[in-house]
Amino acid sequence: MMKKTAINKKVQHSIDLTKIDGDGAFPCPNCGVVISPEDETEQVYRIIDTKVRNDELFELTIMCNSCKTEMRLTGFQQ
Ligand SMILES: [Zn+2]
Repeated sequence: MMKKTAINKKVQHSIDLTKIDGDGAFPCPNCGVVISPEDETEQVYRIIDTKVRNDELFELTIMCNSCKTEMRLTGFQQ
């Protein structure tokens, strides 16, 4: 029988912004709604957590407002 240790852990997607062309917009991995890091209205997504290293934005955790999927954004331009 398999252990279900991760049963309560939410699936979290990782998005590497260095692999995204153009203005950095990407589709939600779950529902496909287009998420733009430039969009600060919080209509499409909400920022949950921000990690800063050496005064630079290092990692951003956001949640899609449509499907509530959490995803971690990395690869911000230095
Ligand atoms: Zn979504």
